[in-house]
This record gives sequence, C-alpha cells and structure tokens, in this order.
Amino acid sequence: MADTKYDVVVVGCGPAGSMAGRSAVLNGASVLIIEKKSAIGIPNHCNECIAAPHLWEERLGFKLNPSVYSQRITKFTIVAPSGEMAPPLENDCIMVERNIFDRALAEEAVRAGARIMLNTRVVDVVKEGDAVTGVMVQRGDVKEKIGAGVVIGCDANNIVAQAAGIQGPYNPSHWLVKEFAGVKGQDPETCYTYMSPRFAPELHAPHMPKGPDTANLSVGIPQGHDLTLTDAYDELMKHPTVKEFFGDASPVRISGGTAPGGGLWQKPYGNGVMLAGDAAGQMWEANGGGINPAMMAGHFGGEVAAKAVQQGDTSEAVLAAYHEKYLSTIGKTNAIQHEAKELLDRAIVSDELIERAVTEIGKELVGLYTYARGYTDVVRDWLEEQKA
Ligand SMILES: Cc1cc2nc3c(=O)[nH]c(=O)nc-3n(C[C@H](O)[C@H](O)[C@H](O)COP(=O)(O)OP(=O)(O)OC[C@H]3O[C@@H](n4cnc5c(N)ncnc54)[C@H](O)[C@@H]3O)c2cc1C
Repeated sequence: MADTKYDVVVVGCGPAGSMAGRSAVLNGASVLIIEKKSAIGIPNHCNECIAAPHLWEERLGFKLNPSVYSQRITKFTIVAPSGEMAPPLENDCIMVERNIFDRALAEEAVRAGARIMLNTRVVDVVKEGDAVTGVMVQRGDVKEKIGAGVVIGCDANNIVAQAAGIQGPYNPSHWLVKEFAGVKGQDPETCYTYMSPRFAPELHAPHMPKGPDTANLSVGIPQGHDLTLTDAYDELMKHPTVKEFFGDASPVRISGGTAPGGGLWQKPYGNGVMLAGDAAGQMWEANGGGINPAMMAGHFGGEVAAKAVQQGDTSEAVLAAYHEKYLSTIGKTNAIQHEAKELLDRAIVSDELIERAVTEIGKELVGLYTYARGYTDVVRDWLEEQKA
C-alpha cells in the first residue's frame, strides 16, 4: 500500500513534465511532479532554439514572460566544408534562455495547481499485476512509495520505461555545447549548420546566434563512435567559416548532453503509465528539436491521464488516446523528420558529397533539416543520381 497517492504522478520536470503536470491539473487531477535535481533547468545543456511562441502558445493556452527569449531566428542555412553556404530558407524560430525557460514552464504547472518535489529520484515503479500504480522514490537515504492513478514518465529515458517494461528505439548521441561571446560577422537571425563526417559523423554542428555577437556552437557524435567530442570540436574550429565567426570569441558556457535518437516509440504507454518527450523518442530526428514535441506530448498526455483517472479506467486501451492525439498532430513532423534523417545520413558521408549537395540542391537540403515539408523527393532523386 502506498504512503501517499496522487491522480497523476509525473517523473521529471523538463518541458514534457511541466506541461504534463499543468495539463493534468487543469483537467481536474491532483498532480505531483518529481524531479531529481535541486534546481529546474540547471545545468543548461541545450542549443536553445525552438519554434516561435505564436506557433504553440495558443494551443497550450499561456504566454511566457518575454525575458525567457533572446534572439529571433528567421533563416536557416547549411554550410559546406569549403564555407559555401546553401541559400537560406525562411523559418520562424526563437532562442530561449533554457534555464529560465524550463523554470518558467514549471512555474506555469505550479500556478495551475501542480506540486513539485525536488531533490527526489524515482528509482522504480510500483506495479499491481502488469499495471503501474505508483513510483518508488529516494531522497537521501529515505525510500518512499507514492501511489498514482497514472504515472507519466517524462524522465528522458531514465527509469520509468525500463521499470514499466516499455521498449522503443534508442540510438543516443553525445554533444558538446559551447556558448560564445565576441562572435564576429554572423547574421544574428540566421542559424548556420556545418556538416562534415570529420567533426559531426551522421549528425551536424549547429551555430545558433543568441544576439549580435553571442552564439551557441555544438558538435554531436553517435554513441560508440571512435571520434571524441573534444577532437570533433577542435576539427570544427578549423572550418573556414567557423574560424571567421569564432576566431576572436571566447566561451562563456560549456556543457554536454545526450540526445535520444532512434525515432518515435511505437507504444509509449501501458496500463497505468505513459511516456512523453525524450522518454518516448519524440525529439525531431533530423534537426534535434525536442522541446516543442516534448511540451505538446506532455500537454496531451496530462489531459488523457486526468480523464482516464476520472473515468476510473487507466488501462492502456484508454491511455492509447494520448499517442493517437500526438501522432495526428505534432507527430506528423516526426514522420517527416524521420525520413529527412535517413536522407541526411546518406548525404553526410563525405565532404565531397556534402559540397556538391550544398551547391546543387542546397535549398532542399536546408528544407530537409528544418521543419519544412516537401523537399524529400528532390533530395532522394539527387542521391540516386549520385549512385549512378
Ligand atoms: C546538446 C543538446 C542540444 C539540444 N538543443 C536543442 C534545441 O536547440 N532545441 C530543441 O528543441 N531541443 C534541443 N535539444 C533537445 C531537448 O533538450 C530535449 O528534447 C528536451 O529537453 C526534452 O524534454 P523532456 O522534458 O522530455 O526531457 P528533459 O528536458 O531531459 O527533462 C527530463 C527531466 O527528468 C529528470 N529526471 C530524469 N530521471 C529522473 C528520475 N529518475 N527521477 C526524477 N527526475 C528525473 C531530469 O533531471 C530532467 O529534469 C537538445 C538536446 C541536447 C542534448
């Protein structure tokens, strides 16, 4: 028997967890969000670029204080190893101060009526038969059971899925992120993405301006690859365009992080349990955007969980509505991004191929990488021609 019980227990207070907690409470549930860290949003290990607020605020039903945002991003381009740039494609994005942004989302959840428990690690789920009925938490040396109508795992693939017996693809990459001051010559509204297997095998190195002379610059490497992150970063700094922009700059933040990769989980729910955000592989695979899908997934998950508890049926048949809602909305972008990632993997095999792609189908390559639709056919045909 659990010591305390909530209708919905959310594990993890990132964007998915805050939005799951907020939405569940707004749909009538009592909610506890459990977070292992002592401060939400810290450390910040992000490139900090998201879709512009007007594209998601209305659906979520709140506006954040403008202080959480820094620089508008209106264009994306891809930079070839020689420095040749693809024609920039318009897009509507914004840079966030991730530590403040995540805390602001948590504040929205609390404002709505959710409780947050910090410094508390979920170490297992509690089960009755094959149904999840709570979590086991640890604070210092003290272990405690907390009961739940539904547990929502927003823990970025840490414990809930594994403990609940839910599986999905997981192909992680590891990242080194540096935030610089003293950047020269960049267009602050343009996100530049450098591609080369020499410094970002199967991935990319985004340069995201945060102001006229500040920017995030990062590299990622798939798990198990021989290249080290520091060697990859050193190689990236030799790129002619990077040298031009960052030659006189200095880092003001260095951090690392792991991105899930592998794509959407087919069944991110079970009896009494669901997964949202990175825990469910919802990060967009081609460009690595995970904040917006995590927020939306949490929003849908919280709503479905609260209603299931009210109906007295938290079986997987009822919780499946969450995944259907996700797939029929923002999940459509996941499908396009999955296809885009496969094509980009085929293009990022040599500097020579990337060089030609940027020159010959640059616009389409940028289209694939960003959220834009309708570019896959041109890139696929072009890749086929290269084989011939
Ligand atoms: C280097 C890097 C750069 C990125 N840049 C961008 C970007 O520019 N734009 C973008 O949209 N996305 C970006 N992403 C992806 C984005 O950060 C994630 O997709 C997003 O944070 C997912 O949100 P989430 O809530 O699912 O998980 P998270 O934000 O990871 O939150 C999970 C929370 O769960 C907590 N937790 C984990 N285990 C437990 C446990 N056992 N008990 C209690 N709490 C637990 C963690 O402490 C954490 O607070 C980047 C990722 C990386 C690695």
